[in-house]
Amino acid sequence: MAQTHLKEALDTLKDTGVRITPQRHAILEYLINSMTHPTADDIYKALEGTFPNMSVATVYNNLRVFREVGLVKELTYGDSSSRFDFVTTQHYHVICEGCGKIVDFHYPGLDEVEQLAAHVTGFKVSHHRMEVYGECPECSKKKEMH
Ligand SMILES: [Zn+2]
Repeated sequence: MAQTHLKEALDTLKDTGVRITPQRHAILEYLINSMTHPTADDIYKALEGTFPNMSVATVYNNLRVFREVGLVKELTYGDSSSRFDFVTTQHYHVICEGCGKIVDFHYPGLDEVEQLAAHVTGFKVSHHRMEVYGECPECSKKKEMH
């Protein structure tokens, strides 16, 4: 299971053009295997033996990169000790109505919809689905050329 998550996470980085460095690989692996929600400092302490030249700032910057592509959630508690949570939830699809191409994207914020639905309706919520439709960049370009 953890290996699948790691592979998917690495694929997401590749797809979004984020370079996979040994440090990024190690930080991701640590986050996935960690059952707690570690701080940047926790991760730094766990990995400083392997990467003696890595600083806490480097760890934090990498975590921000992961957050921007939707791989991790940053849980802020109103101080500097933000905790990071690997997002194991499903991804969503955006579908081109022109050519049918399907592109994956992550939107961790939508997880809360399940909690809200359960709270409001009393249902035991199992999952949710969302599809987004539109026109892919290639199809838009083709139209402009005509
Ligand atoms: Zn298209």
